[in-house]
Amino acid sequence: MRTARRASTMEVPSFLRQLVKETEKMVTFFFKGGRREDYDFENEEDNPSPYLDRPILAKDMEEGGSKWGVNYGMASVQGWRVQMEDAHTCMPEMSGGLPSWSYFAVFDGHAGRTVAQYCAKHLLDFILDKGCVMADEDPDQVKDGIRNGFLGIDRHMHTLARNENWDHSGSTATAVMISPRNIYFINCGDSRTFLCRNGQVVFYTEDHKPCNPREKERIQNAGGSVTLQRINGSLAVSRALGDYDFKEVELKTQTEQLVSPEPEVYELRRTPEDEFLVVACDGVWDAVGNEELCAFVRNRLQVCDDLRDICAQVIDLCLYKGSLDNISIIIICFDSAPKVTPEALQREAALEQIIEQKVEKIIQMMRAKDEDPDLLYVMKFLASEEIPGLPPGGGIISKKDCIIAAYQKYAAAIRSIEAMDTVGSEDSN
Ligand code: MN
Repeated sequence: MRTARRASTMEVPSFLRQLVKETEKMVTFFFKGGRREDYDFENEEDNPSPYLDRPILAKDMEEGGSKWGVNYGMASVQGWRVQMEDAHTCMPEMSGGLPSWSYFAVFDGHAGRTVAQYCAKHLLDFILDKGCVMADEDPDQVKDGIRNGFLGIDRHMHTLARNENWDHSGSTATAVMISPRNIYFINCGDSRTFLCRNGQVVFYTEDHKPCNPREKERIQNAGGSVTLQRINGSLAVSRALGDYDFKEVELKTQTEQLVSPEPEVYELRRTPEDEFLVVACDGVWDAVGNEELCAFVRNRLQVCDDLRDICAQVIDLCLYKGSLDNISIIIICFDSAPKVTPEALQREAALEQIIEQKVEKIIQMMRAKDEDPDLLYVMKFLASEEIPGLPPGGGIISKKDCIIAAYQKYAAAIRSIEAMDTVGSEDSN
């Protein structure tokens, strides 16, 4: 796969920032109310903010697979946030006498990272510890084991948090456990997992938001309220591990508290048409929808065989669409996932050629008017054009590497021609 990402490391941060400023109003809609309310880009010194001046774009990436044909790629980025609070676990081969089982999880921490990191390390142990997950699989028992593992680790961390003076953090969790027969979808909070089967999103986990009628009822029964779509006006997620400040209501059980650590677990029978799973935090879902992302990943799988690179492309897409959060994504492929084809590669090469030609024309047009074509202008110009064959769900933004490479090439070429002209005219004087 041809990629020009490296070439543009100098240009991207300031460009990104401009773009984020430009789209700020548009994207505010996506953010959980309040998080950005007191933030003023122009007045950073006066307002301590949870956002950085420049995003940290270095990606953590990993990949791997199992003997039984489950392959995965993972990428995460800190982005605009002051801290990286996401964590993850990738176990293509689960140990513990469970041949052909896999487990993948994303934890999105808030108000600190202690709980997310502890869960990434230990949640699976708590699930397996109960002995309900066995090679001779009984789905109801597996689901009980997962549920009890969540409640168990949450009680355990409650004690640790008290005794070891932890931060006041909490974490969402979304995970999949894959057995030879079934996929178990696990969710607690507003991260999300979906399955693409036969080109369609056939299952996705439900986000746990305080406004959700069932969640609201529990919150009110625990003496709380939902204002500004938040629990008591402060927490934007209604289920999570940790968050012990919201779990001290007397005479209420662990699953009746303002914030519940109880996961929802669904099992789905595996089929030969299962293509891939996406497990990701809301840094992704705030920027793209399930169907969009499904189409984009399918399209990328046909031109790129490195799952890490596809995860990285999704992250870039989300950043350019305005996501200001930490971003983590795992893509897990089964045998039926789309594969790289010569036809798709040819289409992609043709598309990149069209884009390159358009960039050249825009730059020439601008120079003819004696204006300096900056990258943002070029990008906006292209966004307003009708360009057939762009990746579905990704659009022109997903071809930014190609645009940046072409921009640098032609901008540099034009500058050197102009420099030669200047030298030439000086000579003739
Ligand atoms: Mn998040």
